Amino acid sequence: MLQLDYVAPTTADEAVRALGGGQAKVLAGGTDLLVQMRSGRVRPQRIVDLKRIPGLIGVREEAGGFVIGAATPGAVLGEHKALVKAWPGVVEAANLIGSTQVQGRASIAGNLCNASPAADSVPAIIAARAVAVVIGAKGRREVPVEAIAVAPGKTSLAPDEFVLEIRLPARPARAGDAYLRSIPRTEMDIAVVGAGVNLILNPDGGVAEAHVALGAVAPTALLVPEAGAAIIGSKLDEAALERLDAAARAACRPISDKRGTADYRIKIAGVLARRAAKIAYQRASEA
Ligand SMILES: Cc1cc2nc3c(=O)[nH]c(=O)nc-3n(C[C@H](O)[C@H](O)[C@H](O)COP(=O)(O)OP(=O)(O)OC[C@H]3O[C@@H](n4cnc5c(N)ncnc54)[C@H](O)[C@@H]3O)c2cc1C
Repeated sequence: MLQLDYVAPTTADEAVRALGGGQAKVLAGGTDLLVQMRSGRVRPQRIVDLKRIPGLIGVREEAGGFVIGAATPGAVLGEHKALVKAWPGVVEAANLIGSTQVQGRASIAGNLCNASPAADSVPAIIAARAVAVVIGAKGRREVPVEAIAVAPGKTSLAPDEFVLEIRLPARPARAGDAYLRSIPRTEMDIAVVGAGVNLILNPDGGVAEAHVALGAVAPTALLVPEAGAAIIGSKLDEAALERLDAAARAACRPISDKRGTADYRIKIAGVLARRAAKIAYQRASEA
């Protein structure tokens, strides 16, 4: 019989020690991990629950930015007024995950570390230029969130490492972000394509900074610098949106599966990037 050990450390260092020795899995909300264990896809010998480590559930403001504890459920993010105001796109992406019940548990760090190419919050936090603080036996390091997933279901984390927190940068005036996904149903489905856009505007309304990220169009979520560059200096006129659309489509390397063909995904990536950019622009104009 498979023996399963469950530990709930109360410090990060204890968690790192518990992860050492292999065959251990981190538990945050469990909305992916428990499903995968039930299906037999993963068979850890030890579960290391992060939720009792102080600071791992909750959001704090620091140096004008936000620090999201790695086990913070999506529902908590949606209740945090300052976070919603500063990063509406990140919060809307997190709040698209699953149902109300799932929202009570699912974390964005879990969404990131599960390494699904279609994870909803990941394009939004990549576009936000978020950083993951990773801790392990060799100490702490800060990693741009796009460097965590390396392939479907695989991360760049060492076996004794875990994500302690996600850091969102300080927000200047005239900044806005947005996330949109396409799914076959209205809810409770996996993105066929997801697009996150994060903009900062000049006082005259021109785009000063633009970050565009796409999900479900490659083995991992993609930061698409060419799509951001395509709209710099513009006021998001039709020509700029056309350049953005083309750059987003050019970055896609999707598969065809039962939820969409590769050609469909490429087309929709351009459409969603345009639409998310328009929403982010509107939000930035009003911020
Ligand atoms: C009914 C249902 C609907 C869903 N709908 C969606 C959806 O619409 N969109 C979507 O993107 N996802 C969806 N999911 C998937 C899942 O809810 C999300 O991926 C969720 O964000 C995972 O977070 P979690 O905290 O539950 O992670 P867990 O299940 O606890 O962990 C997921 C994986 O990441 C690892 N991990 C977790 N936290 C860390 C950490 N801090 N450091 C290192 N590794 C870590 C775990 O070991 C595990 O491998 C759905 C799941 C269910 C069951």
